[in-house]
Amino acid sequence: MFGVESVNDVAAYCGFIGAILDREVEAAEIRALRPDKLEAAPLFVRQAHRLGLEGVVLAIDNDGAKILHEAHDPGPIPECRHCSLRKVAKIEVVRSWPRPALPPLGFVFGVPVQTIETWLLLARGHPFSGDPHAVGRDSAGRRMLKKWLYDSEEPSSETMQRIATEVTSMVDATALATTSRSFAHFAEQVRAELAPS
Ligand SMILES: [Zn+2]
Repeated sequence: MFGVESVNDVAAYCGFIGAILDREVEAAEIRALRPDKLEAAPLFVRQAHRLGLEGVVLAIDNDGAKILHEAHDPGPIPECRHCSLRKVAKIEVVRSWPRPALPPLGFVFGVPVQTIETWLLLARGHPFSGDPHAVGRDSAGRRMLKKWLYDSEEPSSETMQRIATEVTSMVDATALATTSRSFAHFAEQVRAELAPS
């Protein structure tokens, strides 16, 4: 199950996870998760368990939040979007529920810095001048990321999904992990939670 900001993000996440695991990944179920309405997350987690799905991916863009999960000290920090999402999702409760005949439900949290477009642009080898993660802290920057990636600040759903599929079909996940710490952290979780042992 994917709990993501937009249905358009699913193509990107399926593509990235497929590249990390080197296999096809299907969305199965899609839910809308907004950064200002994270309280929906635990519901999605329970639904995924009830539906007997393989895993749950909950993802929201960092959008300029100052505390970065990959950079802060251990321990949950309220200002960190990753920590907030993980706390509200209450996965420990669902992890303890039995799943007879099924492998454990996997949980992955994604918080691209600054947005999913950053990961896609880095994957495509976009020539950022300066730190790629400095762009997209404000809404003007996020519009620029869209413009660079989709050649439009307001791309159609079809365009967004087509480009996400194209870019992720060719991505080198190992190389991308060296250019984006948030992606590296995402990839670690995918391997730990969604790869059959
Ligand atoms: Zn954090």
